[in-house]
Amino acid sequence: MSNSVVESEEHQALRAAVAALGQRYGREYLARTAREGRHPEELWADAAKLGYLGVNLPEEYGGGGGGITELSIVLEELGAAGCPLLMMVVSPAICGTVISRFGTGAQKRAWLPGLADGTRTMAFGITEPDAGSNSHRITTTARRDGDSWVLTGRKVFISGVDIADATLIVGRTEDATSGRLVPCLFIVPRDAPGFSRSVIDMELQAAEKQFELVLDEVRLPADALVGEEDAGLLQLFAGLNPERIMTAAFAIGMGRYALAKAVDYAKTRQVWKEPVGAHQAIAHPLAQSHIELELARLMMRKAALLYDAGDDMGAGEAANMAKYAAAEACVRAVDQSVHTLGGNGLTREYGLASLITASRVARIAPVSREMILNFVSHQTLGLPKSY
Ligand SMILES: Cc1cc2nc3c(=O)[nH]c(=O)nc-3n(C[C@H](O)[C@H](O)[C@H](O)COP(=O)(O)OP(=O)(O)OC[C@H]3O[C@@H](n4cnc5c(N)ncnc54)[C@H](O)[C@@H]3O)c2cc1C
Repeated sequence: MSNSVVESEEHQALRAAVAALGQRYGREYLARTAREGRHPEELWADAAKLGYLGVNLPEEYGGGGGGITELSIVLEELGAAGCPLLMMVVSPAICGTVISRFGTGAQKRAWLPGLADGTRTMAFGITEPDAGSNSHRITTTARRDGDSWVLTGRKVFISGVDIADATLIVGRTEDATSGRLVPCLFIVPRDAPGFSRSVIDMELQAAEKQFELVLDEVRLPADALVGEEDAGLLQLFAGLNPERIMTAAFAIGMGRYALAKAVDYAKTRQVWKEPVGAHQAIAHPLAQSHIELELARLMMRKAALLYDAGDDMGAGEAANMAKYAAAEACVRAVDQSVHTLGGNGLTREYGLASLITASRVARIAPVSREMILNFVSHQTLGLPKSY
């Protein structure tokens, strides 16, 4: 799918090496861990050992010294092999980025080596039940009490809180000068008193579970705050752009996986005189999906390049567009792949039907299709706002 003009030899080599690791595990492994209700820890550990999980983190803290470009290649290739690691989107991509860019020396030393070698993970919690897509409305509030912070609020749909050592929680503090509530990021350890979680029963066949969280007067030390108290929004976006790029990688990987299965099937399944793939009604939508996935991947690459070059604003727009394009391409690729297999598209044996639900996640999270269309309408095209 690539050549050295578009992608460096190092990146192609990384792609091939990750693909080989993915092949050793595959979809059946991930489905089994989901059935057993556990995290894919063997794959996580192997990917970590090979330096893939921390490829974007600074070398001085045990990372690979690369960027989101490299991390997105890792996730895309694991996905294309049928075994994407969802926690990569939150742990190294969001939390690792935010801590390495804005954390104190002590926070970096405490967290980055573990995030880089996969021995520690961090979840990320911004979504709230009464705010949803409108993150300006979040009400989780941090109050200063002497040397401590006291956090109160609720979160919903937060992935992997049970396996993560801590969750990076987006809250708000009262700005001392204006009195306005400004976003702030706090590291909340999994077992902090007052921090409770209940699992949400999702129709997803995934190893990572989603949780509703309650923060009831959670007392945290002063150094739980990551970065500046008054620069929260900027810091937040520094983490959200990698999240969008990684969600695009997740979606493209899944789309490629489904498409490859469908293409294989269409080449051999024969009910008339030619295999079903000879019928254009089957072939053209598959070709279309291939094109859409390739286009989305180009946009993802642009977003990652901008981000890694330090252009947060440019990366914001591109990351939104890449996430949109990748999610839409993935949803269509999965839908057409299931259809291509006829009845087998819905069997456990072929394992494609569960991707119908999984592919929809990319359309909704971390920012929905409509919110991206809003962003492009207002920010890119300058159209007026309706809300
Ligand atoms: C599997 C999964 C994992 C997740 N993991 C995490 C996680 O780890 N951490 C985390 O913080 N969150 C996580 N989320 C939450 C996710 O980011 C939210 O679901 C998402 O942001 C949408 O919010 P909502 O569900 O409240 O939808 P709502 O905001 O209630 O939106 C409902 C519908 O209305 C539309 N809509 C809303 N506002 C507008 C508007 N102004 N114009 C047009 N349409 C609009 C939306 O597009 C959507 O279709 C996860 C979600 C899922 C499904």
